[in-house]
Amino acid sequence: MLSLKGNSITFTYNLTHVDYETFIESYGDISTDQLIERKISDLIKKRVEKKEELLSLPSWENQIREAMTQMGFSQYIYLENVSRRAYQAMMKAVQMEISSRSCPVPADRSTVFELMRFKVLGPDMDRLDQCMICVGEMFLAEEATTLPCSHIFHNSCIEKWFHVGHKCPICGFKLLSQK
Ligand SMILES: [Zn+2]
Ligand SMILES: [Zn+2]
Repeated sequence: MLSLKGNSITFTYNLTHVDYETFIESYGDISTDQLIERKISDLIKKRVEKKEELLSLPSWENQIREAMTQMGFSQYIYLENVSRRAYQAMMKAVQMEISSRSCPVPADRSTVFELMRFKVLGPDMDRLDQCMICVGEMFLAEEATTLPCSHIFHNSCIEKWFHVGHKCPICGFKLLSQK
C-alpha cells in the first residue's frame, strides 16, 4: 500500500504470518523467486538499452509489480518486499549504465558537503519513514540528510549514492554535478 504523507512516501506492507519461504514456490527446477529475478534482469537490460531514466525508485517498483501481475504472481505481491527488489534492480541498472559509458557523473563534492544533516530525534519519527536507498528504517539518533527537494536519507546512504550520481533517487532533483 502506498500513501502520501506530506512530501514523503510511505510504504506499508501487509505482512501476514506467511513467510518468505512460503512465497518461494517451485515451478519444476525453478522457483518463483528465480522467475521474478529473470524477468527483472530483462527489465534492467531494456531500460539501460533504451537509455531511460534509471534513478527513479517508484518507476522500478511499478514495473516489478506489473511484471509480477503479468506473470500471474499478483497474489504474491503483498508478501514481497517490492521496494527491496526495485532498489537492487535500480542499482544494477545504474552500474550497468555507468560501465557502458566512460565517465559517471557524481555530484559536486562541496555541494554534497553543504547538504543539511541532522540527527533523528523523537519528534522527527512521525515524518520520517524509510530511507529509500537502503530501504531501511530511520531510527532514533541516526544521522540523516535532507536534500533541497526535502527528501531524506541516511547520511551514509546518500553519501555513497552521490559518488555514482547527482540526482535525488526519489524525484530526480539534480544537484550540481562534478565537471
Ligand atoms: Zn539508508
Ligand atoms: Zn527528491
